[in-house]
Amino acid sequence: MHELGVVFHIADSVVAVAKENQAQRVHSVTLQIGQVSTIIPDYLIDVWNWNCKRVPLLNDCQLLVEEIHAVTHCDGCGKDYDTVPQGKICPYCGSGETWLRTGNEVNIKDITIL
Ligand SMILES: [Zn+2]
Repeated sequence: MHELGVVFHIADSVVAVAKENQAQRVHSVTLQIGQVSTIIPDYLIDVWNWNCKRVPLLNDCQLLVEEIHAVTHCDGCGKDYDTVPQGKICPYCGSGETWLRTGNEVNIKDITIL
């Protein structure tokens, strides 16, 4: 139930922003989710919709999800490569001295309030 914690965290942040802006209601939230984060977008949206029924400011609030492409950087040769097909071993030089540049994040990109 990793998604449940993520939803609560996002909902708290969104409600705080909505209150700051004296919003009546939040129309939609756009999230960016990294390709190799452990979050399953369909499941996240299901949990989101359930949670929105409990929070008046979020009634009928739509959750939109954008995927962030996962990119790994290699310290061995200094190149970047696609994480998903290659994993932790650099396809250019075979080094394992690599780290994830993008792809593990969950960001609130946009909040539309009414
Ligand atoms: Zn390399």
